[in-house]
Amino acid sequence: DERVERIKNKITAYPDFPKPGILFRDIFSVLQTPLVFHDLMAVLEEKVKSVCPDVDIIMGLDSRGFLFGAPLALSLNKPFVPVRKRGKLPGELKQVSYTLEYGTDVFEAQASSIKQGQKVVIVDDLLATGGSMKAASELVKEMGGVVALCLVCIELADLKGRDKLKDPCFPFMSDLNVE
Ligand code: 5GP
Repeated sequence: DERVERIKNKITAYPDFPKPGILFRDIFSVLQTPLVFHDLMAVLEEKVKSVCPDVDIIMGLDSRGFLFGAPLALSLNKPFVPVRKRGKLPGELKQVSYTLEYGTDVFEAQASSIKQGQKVVIVDDLLATGGSMKAASELVKEMGGVVALCLVCIELADLKGRDKLKDPCFPFMSDLNVE
């Protein structure tokens, strides 16, 4: 797919960011070229339409999941629901805590944002260990929703994050050869 090639070419890799030993993929560079941002949104929209045409909710993960989740929700004409790190959302919340490399973190969503049985697509930019996506998926289920698809752009395949997920996940960029 030519579009995927154009997207891949925009993703810059930064060695030793934010910590030594980590090769950070910067997806913000995709947004600097509208044509390629369009490509990315079109690929994501096609994926949702083919895997779960009857989706009810698009959920984006704090914070890069918002960049793609919100425009995706708009083009599919579905509600967008943010999942945020602890302390950022007002009102009655549902929480899930998850393990990081050092310590734990908490994801929160507004309690009324998902209704029983609704089908949810969870969007994030990148799947590394899979910890964030797994936590978000648990949160959706605790709220009564059904995870129809874990939608990410990039997968760091070596980390085997997908093995952690019980729900469908089809990254369209894996093993990026970016130096
Ligand atoms: P995981 O929970 O799968 O280990 O990490 C995924 C989360 O960390 C995602 O929310 C993602 O935005 C962020 N992340 C981890 N590594 C990278 C990276 O190299 N580039 C970007 N853009 N995000 C990363």
